[in-house]
Amino acid sequence: MDFNYTPEQEEFRRTLRGFLERTKSEVFGRNDDLNAGTDRDDRWQRLLEYHRRLYDAGYVALHWPKEWGGGGAGIVEQAIYQDEALRLGLPIYGANTLAIDRIGPTLIFLGTDEQRERYLRKMLTAEEIWCQGYSEPNAGSDLAGLQTRAEIQGDYFVVNGQKIWTSLAQRAHMQVLLVRTDPKAPKHMGISYLLVDMKSPGITVRPLRQITGGAEFNEVFYDNVKVPLKNLVGEINKGWQVSIATLMYERASGGTRHPVQKSVEDLIGLSRRVQFQGVTAAQHPYVRQKLAQFAIEAECLRLIRYRGLTNQLKKRIPGPETSYGKLHATELNLRVQMFADEMLGPFHQLRSGSSAAVEGGRWLGRFLTARGMTIAAGSSEIQHNIIGERVLKLPKG
Ligand SMILES: Cc1cc2nc3c(=O)[nH]c(=O)nc-3n(C[C@H](O)[C@H](O)[C@H](O)COP(=O)(O)OP(=O)(O)OC[C@H]3O[C@@H](n4cnc5c(N)ncnc54)[C@H](O)[C@@H]3O)c2cc1C
Repeated sequence: MDFNYTPEQEEFRRTLRGFLERTKSEVFGRNDDLNAGTDRDDRWQRLLEYHRRLYDAGYVALHWPKEWGGGGAGIVEQAIYQDEALRLGLPIYGANTLAIDRIGPTLIFLGTDEQRERYLRKMLTAEEIWCQGYSEPNAGSDLAGLQTRAEIQGDYFVVNGQKIWTSLAQRAHMQVLLVRTDPKAPKHMGISYLLVDMKSPGITVRPLRQITGGAEFNEVFYDNVKVPLKNLVGEINKGWQVSIATLMYERASGGTRHPVQKSVEDLIGLSRRVQFQGVTAAQHPYVRQKLAQFAIEAECLRLIRYRGLTNQLKKRIPGPETSYGKLHATELNLRVQMFADEMLGPFHQLRSGSSAAVEGGRWLGRFLTARGMTIAAGSSEIQHNIIGERVLKLPKG
């Protein structure tokens, strides 16, 4: 097997790298945590500007088929793109992550032609930002227990209920929404998957403040919200299968999207700038051991990412093995951030604005965000269950 890149692929990487480095510095300047702070207008505008440039350059959805406006790229180009974007900590799908990595692909495979025509292009241009209404106050890990109801009245579903933890709902124009359409059916059977205009009368969005100080996710309330019947994806009461497809894409990219390699590289950089037990941290044997282990695990994750890409290339919906990348990337990132805390000691606890905060307090921000990443898109415990039962075929616990 030949592991070398062809001259064309090397040229693709060179051009891409130049574009990403230039665009990053022009749009984001020296700001390093590019995925954070979407509730702040200034950061959101930058993310939109970055998205526009990504779109204009043709990089925003390399993995989508050309007929739907994507790049139709091969696996090697996709791998190069992900490597280069993640190396710089850039959001690989710009401002419309949910749409481009999971909702769009779900519509490409399971939507109607009319839905594809209506929604896909505006996902790519970010004219329509999407959010995902799955979780409810009493239905997170046990998602099939959801209670938000939709009844058919004439040409519409009429929706009542509540969702929670809906990322980007305050920015979104559209939402994928899971609703119960047959309350008498067994819980996995009576669910439907709808596409909902967030400006519909009867929708109220309330931001939730997080431990980081930001408010990037929300409660969403539905009071007699009318959704046209043509906005159903798949069949009525068979939305569970559609939602699983979206979740698989989400978990595939939960591993892919997480710039954990950059987290490790940043930590290595930090270790060269700070002291640990009287010496430069990077020279301390305990620190070196930890850094080496993190770097090895991050490299393994990069290779696992290629495996996920191979699956997509074969036009298969990602399977339960995607749980491994999601689980490992987010847990590794958590350990990296916890080790930054150990290395920096009490100074790690200082927020930006404090004169003694290390590197503007960014390590604290990353630490506070890291735990949530192990919960979003299905908690680590749930990923363990999926791997145990559906990949390793162990008996149910
Ligand atoms: C940053 C962030 C962004 C999010 N964005 C969205 C979004 O955009 N849209 C959306 O719909 N949701 C979103 N979520 C919600 C997320 O999907 C849920 O938080 C997650 O599925 C867990 O559900 P829960 O919070 O109800 O916890 P619970 O399900 O109540 O779980 C509580 C604890 O019990 C454990 N547990 C539960 N069941 C089992 C089991 N069977 N075996 C072992 N352990 C178990 C869990 O691992 C967890 O530790 C987001 C969450 C976060 C943190």
